[in-house]
Amino acid sequence: MIDLETPVAALLDSTHGKPKLLLVDDQPINIQMMYRCFAGKYQVFMATSGEQALSLCESNPPDLILLDVVMPGLDGFEVCKRLKADQNTQHIPVIFVTAHTDPTQETFGLSLGAVDFIAKPVNPDVVRARVKTHLTLKFQSDLLRKLVFLDGLTSAFNRRYFDQQICTEWARAARSNTPLSLILLDVDFFKRYNDSYGHQAGDDALRVVAGALKSCLRRPADLVARYGGEEFACILPETSYQDALAIADELEHHIRALAIPHKSSEVADVVTISLGLASRVGSSQSDVQDLIALADNLLYQAKHSGRGRVCSSVLAAAP
Ligand code: GH3
Ligand code: MG
Ligand code: MG
Repeated sequence: MIDLETPVAALLDSTHGKPKLLLVDDQPINIQMMYRCFAGKYQVFMATSGEQALSLCESNPPDLILLDVVMPGLDGFEVCKRLKADQNTQHIPVIFVTAHTDPTQETFGLSLGAVDFIAKPVNPDVVRARVKTHLTLKFQSDLLRKLVFLDGLTSAFNRRYFDQQICTEWARAARSNTPLSLILLDVDFFKRYNDSYGHQAGDDALRVVAGALKSCLRRPADLVARYGGEEFACILPETSYQDALAIADELEHHIRALAIPHKSSEVADVVTISLGLASRVGSSQSDVQDLIALADNLLYQAKHSGRGRVCSSVLAAAP
């Protein structure tokens, strides 16, 4: 079992506070009764129809749903089916709460992907205990899904996640015609750093650099990934060229200001980074590989024009 109290788990836990429960029942009295079971320890959201439940799950996904089966309009089975068919909601555990507890119905509900079946009228202690168990399992599987995408040394996202996310963000930017900025950056003279201070100290420096990069990015959608050995990537969705340039400059200054001694660097006597910033602005005929190639090119320029600096450009706009 994974202990959710460990620091790494706390770091990865996306709940940021009380777990979110969604109660769905067309009878307000049932919702009120359930609400009394959970208020205090949980953030409780309520829906009185299947349609309302689906729209809530889209706008503010809960950590678990207690779902009535028999409702006018979309019934609980149909709601569950739709949640499981959507990759944004398929990981939310669903517990059916129903007065019809014959084995055929129960089996059908479980076959749709529900994790449990609870009979009405519910016993508050039983329902609380089951919810707690399923939430623990849910947080453990969220954690495992995230670990697959994390770099073991720095806890930044890994290359696999970067490759996936840059494509997702590119598609989103193209759809909504919003800007997307990408920074590729590389630690200067890092081979010499290892030679001077040892590989272990090199590892420590990479951890500190990754943490400092993360601390400079403030929007929830921004992300830092380890792109390769001592190279990192920052994806900045919905960030204009000017704003991204300010962030790139801030990253450069911030890493320098960490003042990690680097006696064999030719740039400064502390660790520095070189950065390439490329932004997609407005509509563009290019594709995501062009954005990555441009950022890479600009990083190369930053290296060859003295290191410890930012080189930046926008992707050519569509004519
Ligand atoms: P430049 O300024 O041109 O980027 O020079 P550089 O020495 O940083 O670049 P080069 O590509 O020649 O060397 C990269 C070095 O980064 C070599 C490699 O040992 C080190 N490195 C890559 N990954 C790790 C790591 O996980 N830990 C440590 N300690 N060093 C690493
Ligand atoms: Mg380097
Ligand atoms: Mg490198």
